[in-house]
This record gives sequence, structure tokens and C-alpha cells, in this order.
Amino acid sequence: MPISTYEYAKICQTRRFEAFEFREGRIWLKKRSDKRCIFTFPFLGQWLCGLQNEKPHVCRMWPFRVADRPLYSREERARYEGSEWTGYVYVDPRCPRLIYGKPTFKFMRRVVEEFVQIATRRISHQNCSTASESFAFSGFSLTRTT
Ligand code: SF4
Repeated sequence: MPISTYEYAKICQTRRFEAFEFREGRIWLKKRSDKRCIFTFPFLGQWLCGLQNEKPHVCRMWPFRVADRPLYSREERARYEGSEWTGYVYVDPRCPRLIYGKPTFKFMRRVVEEFVQIATRRISHQNCSTASESFAFSGFSLTRTT
């Protein structure tokens, strides 16, 4: 996945330069031969991210997309009214861990709120929206591995 020049410079301070590739005018995280990101590693039966607090923004947001205007149809289902922000939250159907279902209260109030705060740059640290949390999202639920 492509990352910003700032993120590349930040990650390069502590990680290997060979972890990146440069194509199409962008900087990408390399993949291993099994197609997983070069920074993933196995731990107690699951795959974790070796970058954690240095994760690129696009990784922090996966599989969500947050926008201040509707991007697709069914906008009423995507509308999100949080404590400090109102807009639209979408989930990428390519995420292999999505399970359709009714969202939980915790998911809506803590997990989605955290994704929104990260997307709108109010916070950068992930607490409830990363590894091994079980989610349920507006018609979807999922378990995240990265
Ligand atoms: S979150 Fe996943 S894709 Fe992003 S850096 Fe970590 S292991 Fe790689």
C-alpha cells in the first residue's frame, strides 16, 4: 500500500530501507512472498503488525474510509453522528474478515469513534481499533489481524 513521504522518512529512522519499493511515483510497503506486508509477523496464532505506533495512516484506517460528504449510495446508512464530528463512515468490502451483522454499542461508541478521530487527525494512537478486537459495524462485524 502507498504511504506518504513523511511516513516513509519516519519509518526509515528505525526500520530497513529495503522494506519499501518505489513505483508509479509513490512509496509502497513491500510484500513478502506470501503476499503479506513485510512488517507482519506471527504471534500466538495470529498475524501482528511490527510497526504498531509507527503504522502509516492508511493502515490505521483499514478497512474504514471516513468522509465529510457521502461517497457512495445508501448515504443514510453510512451517516455517523459522533461527539465532535458528523460525516460518513464506510467499510472496504475487500477486507476478508468482514462479517455482516448488527453493530454492538461498544463498537459504535468506542471503535468507530476512534477511527473517526484518527481520520480527522484528532488522535493518532490506536487503542480499541487494532489487533484482535472483535468489531461489529453498521451491518458488518469483523475481526482485525493487522
Ligand atoms: S498495519 Fe499491516 S500493512 Fe500496515 S504496516 Fe502494519 S503489517 Fe503492514
